[in-house]
Amino acid sequence: MLPKALELMMSGVSPIAQRVAAFLEKRNNAAYCESCLVERLLIASRVAMKAAIESERFSTRIGICPDCKTRKQVIACRGGAGKAAA
Ligand SMILES: [Zn+2]
Repeated sequence: MLPKALELMMSGVSPIAQRVAAFLEKRNNAAYCESCLVERLLIASRVAMKAAIESERFSTRIGICPDCKTRKQVIACRGGAGKAAA
């Protein structure tokens, strides 16, 4: 058995990506902007954050972030669409 962290590293999924995905899934796959995600999840490294959201696990589009109510690039969990019932 591999330690969990090593397992995640080897599968190419960063712990930050996991946290972002869990956060978005909990909110019915809402799409939040990067700055709100950084703030909400207390992510120390914006570089790591960028790398995580650029992974194929997420998709970005222009939309309104439910947190800061600003129209900007928002990040959504890919594959989560359709799972949320309105
Ligand atoms: Zn926002």
